[in-house]
Amino acid sequence: MNGVTLVIGEAHDGSLSEATREAIGVARSIADPGEVVGFLAGSAARSSGAGFGRFGVARVFVADDPRLDAATNSVIAHLAAATADIAGASVVVAGGTILGRDVIARLASRWNAASATGVIAVARAGEALEVRRPVFGGRATETRRLEGPHAALAVRPHAFAAPTEAPVEPTFVTVPVDSVPPVLWGPKRLSVEVTPRGAGPTLGDASIVVSGGRGVRAAENFHLVEELAQSLGAAVGASRAVTDAGWRPASFQVGQTGRTVSPQLYVAVGISGAIQHLVGMVSSRTIVAINSDASAPIFKVADYGVVGDLFQIVPALTQEIRRVRGQ
Ligand SMILES: Cc1cc2nc3c(=O)[nH]c(=O)nc-3n(C[C@H](O)[C@H](O)[C@H](O)COP(=O)(O)OP(=O)(O)OC[C@H]3O[C@@H](n4cnc5c(N)ncnc54)[C@H](O)[C@@H]3O)c2cc1C
Repeated sequence: MNGVTLVIGEAHDGSLSEATREAIGVARSIADPGEVVGFLAGSAARSSGAGFGRFGVARVFVADDPRLDAATNSVIAHLAAATADIAGASVVVAGGTILGRDVIARLASRWNAASATGVIAVARAGEALEVRRPVFGGRATETRRLEGPHAALAVRPHAFAAPTEAPVEPTFVTVPVDSVPPVLWGPKRLSVEVTPRGAGPTLGDASIVVSGGRGVRAAENFHLVEELAQSLGAAVGASRAVTDAGWRPASFQVGQTGRTVSPQLYVAVGISGAIQHLVGMVSSRTIVAINSDASAPIFKVADYGVVGDLFQIVPALTQEIRRVRGQ
């Protein structure tokens, strides 16, 4: 599986996302020097695509049509597959975002590629790629060999460091969008309502996440969790008990039917540790649990556990963190 490796990029506010930078790092680790190319779609593709050059990617394929800003992932997958063919790529890599995982799955079927998502390690193995990924909610790690002429993978967030900078001035290649079958343009996104969230990093990108559960008892107590998060510069998450009760929006939910996160540090406050919650956070590097019940299942996965009343512990912890950090 030698040859070009294509990175599907995502950009926010004119910059490549952290997930894309991680994908570039993975691509560089498996491709020969100079064999990584970028792909970006949308009206800002050309301006944001320049960000690839910062990490040594000298050729960037851009589909800079404004219609792509509202296009579905099927359209992006179609264009990425077409670009992979134009570029002579054998491997396509995307970041571990909702879009990255979805596009990789669609592209794999369109492009006849062996694929994997949630990848935490990857290495060349002769003509194939060998990847490792957590399975069964993080209770096991699968090693998978991707054989054949094409491979497509989405990496797990924070599993890989961003690549070192190696600035080059990239050249741009325009990808024609007229190859997209009309049926794929069919579903149109009419509007996007952004769910308001507090200040601080987003759940998917954060290196620290503080989540609250039913143990906080009521919506008006949830500020304790948010203040702890703020003191740490963390994103705020929640268990489903909290989102079902309407204490916080569904976008906060971590777990099987919510977001999957794998930050450097995950703090679970008043969360019992049901399997459906663990699935979404168990691959976090360090897990801290605060719970009054010493037999709560969360302590089975926690690296550090505090058994006690969150209403005493959390405010004291927040105060101490603020003091140490001079906040
Ligand atoms: C199909 C399906 C999908 C699901 N998807 C998800 C999902 O994506 N995410 C998710 O989170 N759940 C999900 N669930 C729900 C899951 O099974 C649990 O019901 C839920 O995670 C429980 O949330 P909790 O831990 O906040 O509440 P509880 O299980 O009620 O735990 C509350 C904890 O707070 C502790 N506590 C209470 N008072 C205090 C105090 N004063 N100080 C400290 N600790 C205290 C208790 O000891 C307890 O351990 C799903 C369930 C199903 C069936």
